Amino acid sequence: LVVLGIETSCDETAAAVVVGGRRVLSSVVSSQVDLHARFGGVVPEIASRAHVELLTPVVAEAMLSAGVEPHDLDAVACTVGPGLVGALLVGVSTAKALSLVWDVPFVAVNHLEAHLHAAFLEEPDLQLPAVVLLVSGGHTMLVHWEEMGRYRLLGQTVDDAAGEAFDKVARFLGLGYPGGPAIDALAMDGDPTAIAFPRPMLDNGYDFSFSGLKTAVVNHVRKNPDVATADVAASFQEAVVDVLVAKARRAAAEIGAKALCIGGGVAANSQLRERMLGVCVDDGLQAFLPSRAMCTDNAAMVAAAGWHRFLADGASPLDLGAEPNLRLPVV
Ligand code: ATP
Ligand code: MG
Ligand code: FE
Repeated sequence: LVVLGIETSCDETAAAVVVGGRRVLSSVVSSQVDLHARFGGVVPEIASRAHVELLTPVVAEAMLSAGVEPHDLDAVACTVGPGLVGALLVGVSTAKALSLVWDVPFVAVNHLEAHLHAAFLEEPDLQLPAVVLLVSGGHTMLVHWEEMGRYRLLGQTVDDAAGEAFDKVARFLGLGYPGGPAIDALAMDGDPTAIAFPRPMLDNGYDFSFSGLKTAVVNHVRKNPDVATADVAASFQEAVVDVLVAKARRAAAEIGAKALCIGGGVAANSQLRERMLGVCVDDGLQAFLPSRAMCTDNAAMVAAAGWHRFLADGASPLDLGAEPNLRLPVV
């Protein structure tokens, strides 16, 4: 089955063609990062307008570089939520229009489920049950992936998402947007043990909290204006990574997971990747660290998740709209 995937939930306009939920024929991502950078974050109205302009050429390029025609498609899969409502609507309306015009089934995809499926795209032999740490600009969750289509939410953030914490701290330190890559790069020159920032909720449960850590960084810098920014970046990053890794490791041990995976934009973080790999080696777990391109928003993961959904549930109704607050379909 050949699936066209469409993704417009936030600030990436993306389209991809994937065969059998595995073989990526094309994956086109047009990031709007430059458009939003001067505002220090994603501006929803600008994102929606940019999606309107970019989506048609992005879909055309995905189809062209995959070498497929509309009649080759078996489904058009699109992210319907969660995300920014205006941004989502552009993708959903386009996908439904293409579905009608091309007479191809429309499949609604949950963006979070798509992030989970990103793992399988690059590692078809991924073993279940697995623990997946999904850390992005809008989400921080620890998921127990029992079997195909069956997830259990172990914990999530009670305040800021991990990526949001990186972005807010970077903004405070004057490092620009997006903050994650900037902190990651600067931390390489800093001492992660320089400042003992708190490790929020380290030992209790699987929920996360990052807003207190952000405040601790702000307070520390205000009290010590001469502190080296690289040390702040490295120490902050170390605190976040310590918490993420400790909880993922504890969860994997508790459920008897065979594999540990990460996903979402923060999964591109070098320190997080290195530490996760170390834990997997120590604990005898299959490690799966998707490439950076597969960690951040893309449409190949949407097409892959859509393929699984289509096989399990068939086509979605065309009167379905965008669902900005959609949750992971947990059991
Ligand atoms: P969501 O997927 O939850 O809707 P989103 O689209 O904002 O949110 P992604 O595009 O997956 O999320 O990821 C963007 C986030 O990842 C940003 O917060 C960014 O700072 C963070 N990020 C990217 N690279 C790194 C890195 N190397 N280290 C830490 N954080 C990073
Ligand atoms: Mg994004
Ligand atoms: Fe995302």
